[in-house]
Amino acid sequence: MTNTIEITKAKTSKIHDVDFDNLSFGKVFSDHMFVCDFKNGEWQKPEITPYAPLTLDPSARVFHYGQAVFEGMKAFKDEAENVWLFRPEDNLERINKSSERLAIPAFPKEVFMEGLKALVNLDKDWVQPGFGNSLYIRPFVIATEPAIAASPALEYKFLIICSPAQSYYSGDVRVLIAEQFSRSANGGVGYAKAAGNYAAQFYPTSLANQEGFQQIIWTDADTHEFLEEAGTMNVFFRINDTLVTAPTSERILDGITRRSIIQIAKDSNIAVDVRPIKVSELIEASKNGSLKEIFGSGTAAVVSPISAFSYKGDVFEVPKIDKNFSDIFKEKLLNIQYNKSEDPYGWRQSI
Ligand SMILES: *Cc1c(COP(=O)(O)O)cnc(C)c1O
Repeated sequence: MTNTIEITKAKTSKIHDVDFDNLSFGKVFSDHMFVCDFKNGEWQKPEITPYAPLTLDPSARVFHYGQAVFEGMKAFKDEAENVWLFRPEDNLERINKSSERLAIPAFPKEVFMEGLKALVNLDKDWVQPGFGNSLYIRPFVIATEPAIAASPALEYKFLIICSPAQSYYSGDVRVLIAEQFSRSANGGVGYAKAAGNYAAQFYPTSLANQEGFQQIIWTDADTHEFLEEAGTMNVFFRINDTLVTAPTSERILDGITRRSIIQIAKDSNIAVDVRPIKVSELIEASKNGSLKEIFGSGTAAVVSPISAFSYKGDVFEVPKIDKNFSDIFKEKLLNIQYNKSEDPYGWRQSI
């Protein structure tokens, strides 16, 4: 396959219709999208086209068997109007890991990087300046082959679409610790960013919402004794001055924000303990006052502090403290992402 991307520009831009001060997450999309088809056993010529609906046969396998994986990443604009990506190769590696689990062919890294940068360059006016503003980037792959036999498709589409996003404040997040439902199980697809993992979370989460909790902290499917993830984020606990988080596994998604926070914590001389953590330990720490913070981590919100958790009907409030670890990590990460500080890790990449 050839790497040269065929670019068809939109005739007019929709950008002037957008109210960038009042965006709801993921509802407005930029002028262009990246598309690449897989057929006859290989990825075809990649294209950038005006953003537009897809036409798919109703028998396309994605509709029937959920062969779909995705990624979430962001582009940031610095004060000199340069646009930056954050660890983009990690997203490509992860989507290919997810694809492998869903029997979807891997996408070539060079084509991804070239396509991503060309797309963001073309739509760089959609990356609004200002700390907290970003362009949310959604790469995804779907099985398009028209055939409802229950086997892996022979045809796919790899797409990248982009949506402008404002600084994301999740408000007061109260969480319910899962006792019955599970997000993932051993041998399953929990480590993959599979579309179906999200579909399966909606119902238990809506039940939690009805009880006044915004998210669920998922526990291991076997015993419901170990804390795994918070909603669609990785989860960290601060016990005294140690940061504790579960090791990634076949059930836990290997978050890029999680990885970055662990690195920053270590380099800030904060003790990090990556080990399984029990619900009973969390309750004990809450009772004896050693629990200082709980927060989720993910691309959308960077960190999302959790103010209370509930388990078997008891509600435990997390104390509000000064000098939060979560604020430190958020600031350090944002400073790297927005080119406001040195990037000793090489995470920031110019387009
Ligand atoms: C995407 C995702 C995360 C966060 O990953 P980041 O790379 O940090 O955005 C965590 N858990 C689940 C289940 C996810 O789908």
